[in-house]
Amino acid sequence: MAELQANSSINSSQGSLPICIYCGRVRKPAPYRIRHGAPGPVLLCENRCCPECGGKLEARLHPATVRNGKRVMRASYWTHLEPMPLRNCPKCNNPYRPAYKRFPHPEMCTRCYALQRDRKWKAAHPEQRKEYDKRSAKRRTARVRFAKQFPPDWDDWALDSKIIGIELLRQEHISNPDLGERLDSSRLLKCPYADTWERALCGPKRGSKRAINFVGEIRKRLGKPARKDFIRSI
Ligand SMILES: [Zn+2]
Ligand SMILES: [Zn+2]
Ligand SMILES: [Zn+2]
Repeated sequence: MAELQANSSINSSQGSLPICIYCGRVRKPAPYRIRHGAPGPVLLCENRCCPECGGKLEARLHPATVRNGKRVMRASYWTHLEPMPLRNCPKCNNPYRPAYKRFPHPEMCTRCYALQRDRKWKAAHPEQRKEYDKRSAKRRTARVRFAKQFPPDWDDWALDSKIIGIELLRQEHISNPDLGERLDSSRLLKCPYADTWERALCGPKRGSKRAINFVGEIRKRLGKPARKDFIRSI
């Protein structure tokens, strides 16, 4: 309370007080700091615009405590009301909304925070970093190699051909019976040629010729022959 009274005496000399750049009202000294360690007292306009970002502030009160037999409420800090205004990340310059309304001011977008944390961790663990980089490079080459196998007209393929095609591309070689078993266990595609894909693809004698031809056509388009010894060495 004493603090508030002191503030009102300063208010009488309004001439030297700054103007809020967000709403144009005079900013007067208010109790409590904007965040821990910030210079005080904080100057706030009557609309309670945050001096640092223009977001609206509200005093957060501690639960009532009993002092000298009296219940007193004490505001401990200012908190931002949601939604906080969008701001630009100083690192990547993309607009973002701060994630924590109580601590929005050491500012950076969540992506830049994650990158910073990652950099710090790598600097502190040089050995693990090498291992980590090696593994991620390996994963990247595997992804690129997988993506390069798709033919240029892949988007126009029918869905059933795509499901079979992906199974064929996932490994260097898969035989027809193994392919049938995988298709049955995935339950993505019902076999139109026999009870199960495994049965349809089990061989030219007992299986379905139409099923084998259908899969053979897809194999041809992807360069994935059914017989292992037919694979061209690259
Ligand atoms: Zn204002
Ligand atoms: Zn703010
Ligand atoms: Zn950023």
